[in-house]
This record gives sequence, structure tokens and C-alpha cells, in this order.
Amino acid sequence: MRIAMVGAGYVGLVSGACFAEFGVEVCLVDTDAAKVAALREGRIPIYEPGLDRLVQDNVGEGRLTFTTDLAEAVQGAEAVFLAVGTPSRRGDGHADLSFVFAAAEQVARAATRPLVLVTKSTVPVGTGRRVREIVRQARPELAIEVASNPEFLREGSAIGDFMRPDRVVIGTEPGEAGERALAVLKRLYRPLYLIETPILATSIETAELIKYAANAFLATKITFINEIADLCEKVGADVHDVARGMGLDGRIGRKFLHAGPGYGGSCFPKDTLALARTAQDAGAPLRLVETTIAVNEARKAAMAERVIAACGGSVEGKTIAVLGLTFKPETDDMREAPSLVVVPKLLAAGARVRAFDPAGMGQARALLPAGLEYAANALEAAADADALVLLTEWNEFRALSPSRLKAAMRGDVLLDLRNVYDPETMRQAGFRYASIGRP
Ligand code: NAD
Repeated sequence: MRIAMVGAGYVGLVSGACFAEFGVEVCLVDTDAAKVAALREGRIPIYEPGLDRLVQDNVGEGRLTFTTDLAEAVQGAEAVFLAVGTPSRRGDGHADLSFVFAAAEQVARAATRPLVLVTKSTVPVGTGRRVREIVRQARPELAIEVASNPEFLREGSAIGDFMRPDRVVIGTEPGEAGERALAVLKRLYRPLYLIETPILATSIETAELIKYAANAFLATKITFINEIADLCEKVGADVHDVARGMGLDGRIGRKFLHAGPGYGGSCFPKDTLALARTAQDAGAPLRLVETTIAVNEARKAAMAERVIAACGGSVEGKTIAVLGLTFKPETDDMREAPSLVVVPKLLAAGARVRAFDPAGMGQARALLPAGLEYAANALEAAADADALVLLTEWNEFRALSPSRLKAAMRGDVLLDLRNVYDPETMRQAGFRYASIGRP
């Protein structure tokens, strides 16, 4: 079986490499010539654990190829996946579907045989229908079926998530054509059948909405515990224990109940916003999601204020060390990371800021003010700092020696925005330690 994957980003590259690992012949196409050139030379343009090996193996086996030529990729493909970006549209927060529509039209024009055009990008309800219209208009004579197959992988554990997902959602049109499309996709996902992965076959609209509803729910869960953490601080409770006590209830579950500086990343912020806009347009506003968005935005800004307060009300002329810049560990992705709000605010308040991140500094340089300094490791960032702020919970930061960290610094303020350190240990090491929602 041969497929094409349009877009070789975090989703396209991982999904493409994983399908190749399943034994499928995959051609990945991207308009970014530098990305394709890097991949052809054996370099992986993103940081994702295990991906280099997976790509290398499948390229070696001849199952995975890369091109900038969409027509070449689509040649002979039974299914073509769209894994292009769907960022927030500037100004109104709707998902920008221009990449999806452009790619759909290009695929239709390049198609030389009947195929299934599968949208893997996260797209608002109704997009599948519009993709079908585009395709019909471009190639009325050719049987191109449209399907929706939203992706749930998480950066940082993307390969495991793709290979052992909680579920696979496949949306197809009603009728015989839809059945044929479903059969093609089921064949592709056959290795997951064998490990008893639930495969949910739905309409296209339902599949599209499942993805947004899941992301909005998770974003709301995080925001809920963040607000509970704020309440804990006021009343002297411990959010760790509250979260544990809640999470042990099987109806609630323990995941996504970690208080922190607010969610970021390439999905939750834009997807919650897009869902809220879709719901408003449909006349069924999601007020819970709208509130989540507002609370989370305010929270990121409030984190900078927390740092300033911990430094005695001013950071003017002070040196602040920041550990972690990416929106979460094990990725180089900086999209909507809390650091993009916190660091500029600290610089604007007159601080000298020195940061270290194990994978994100390359992307950070393009996104954060030029005044930010970069260190080669955590201890170098901490050297002579008045305060240290932990923004992303990379494992290597958990393993830092408190005494060495303290000895490197000039001051004694430690603000742990991810609650990774033990308060008592840090106090014993001489820090004035503060975290989120813990006494
Ligand atoms: P990305 O920005 O990393 O990658 C998108 C790629 O598509 C880019 O390399 C871009 O050059 C390429 N592209 C754009 N138009 C093209 C065209 N016409 N032809 C060929 N290539 C084209 O984006 P991503 O993070 O991989 O996300 C892709 C989609 O998947 C989004 O809709 C996102 O919401 C969704 N998603 C992302 C994640 C995640 O963790 N990143 C998880 C689940 C779903």
C-alpha cells in the first residue's frame, strides 16, 4: 500500500514515519524546501524523542521518502493525508484553513487515480464538507473520497501515542463511497486492530468535533486545577493533595490535574479559540470554554507578576535565571509557551534574564526579545542570579543539586512554577522557595 502525507511537521513527520513502520510505503511532501532537504540528508528538523531512529530505519528500508513535489507524492497513492498547519486566524481566532484548502486542491489536481483524501489536521466542523466541494470542483470526473482522521498524539511522546493510541477516530461520508474510504483507512490502521485499539467510525462532522471537544475538555481540566491552586494558596491547602484526592475518583482521573503557569503549545490555545468561535457562529456558545480561554490568558501574565512579587516587588536591575522555555518538556516547540509572555514582561520590567532550555533555544531566538541571554546549561543560567524561575519541567532540572544551584546564585529566590521540587528540601538548601498552590 502506498500513501502520501502532505505536511512534514510534528504530526505529518511522526504519522508518516509510523505508517512506514507499519509496512506502508509513505511519501512525505512539504513546501518547505529546507525541511525536505534536511530530511533527505538524514537530519530531523524537530526534536521528538525516538524520531531520528524511526525515520532512519524506514528510509533505509525504502518505505519512507521525502519530496517538495506534491504531484510526485500523490502518484499512485491510495490515500493522501493532509497534515498541514491550522493556526489561529489573525484577528478573529477562527482556524486559518488556507493551508488545508490549498493542499486539498493541489492533491485533487495532481491525482491520477481514485483515492481517499484524509484530513488529519485539526479542523472545525464543516471543513470536510468544504474540502469535498473543492475536490469535486477541481476533479469532477475522479472518485476522490474525503475522510476525517484527527490526530491525538502529544509532542514529546508522539511515537508511542501514534503506535499505541487510546483510540483511532475515522469519519467518513454515508453510503458506499464512505464505506470504501473507511475500508482503506482500516487497512492502514490494521496493526492497531491487532492490539485491540478501539476504532471509532463516525460521520465526518462528528470526527471533527471529537478532536476539538477532547482538547477543550483537557484545557478546561488544567485550568480548573490552576484556579483550585490559587484558592489553595489563599486558604492554606495543598493542591497536590487536592488533585490526588480528586484524581483517585475514577470518574475524574489523575491526568491533567497538575497546577502550573497555564497551558500553551501548538494545540490547546488555538483549538479552544477556534471551537469557541465555531460554537458562537452555530448559535450554541460554549461559555465554559470561553472562560477557560480568558482565565488561561490572564494566568500567563500573572506568572510574571508572581516573579516580580517574589523578588520583593521589583526586578529592576536584577538577574533572573529561567529554566525551560518550551511549552512542555521533550519538545523544541515554543508555540504559545508561557515563556513567551513571562520573559518579555520581566525584560520590560528592567530585569536581566538568562535562560536555558535543553531543546527550545533555537526556536526561542526567533520568538523572544533580543535582550534575552542564553546559557549553555542550568548552572550557567543560575550563575550570580538573584532569582531562579522554573518554567518547564524537563527531567534534567528535577535532578539538579539544590546546594550547587544555590551556591551558583547571588540571591535565594526560587519560583517553581511546575511544582517539581520538594519545598522542605529547597528551604533547607537555603532558598526562599515558592511554588503553585502549596503552602
Ligand atoms: P507544523 O506547522 O509543524 O507542520 C505543518 C507543515 O505543513 C509545515 O512543515 C508546512 O511547511 C507544511 N505545509 C503547509 N502547506 C503545505 C502544502 N500545501 N503542501 C505541503 N506542505 C505544506 O504543524 P503540526 O504541529 O504538525 O500540526 C499540523 C496539524 O495537526 C494542525 O492542524 C494541528 O492542530 C494538528 N495537530 C497537532 C498536534 C501537535 O502536537 N503538534 C497534535 C495533534 C494534532
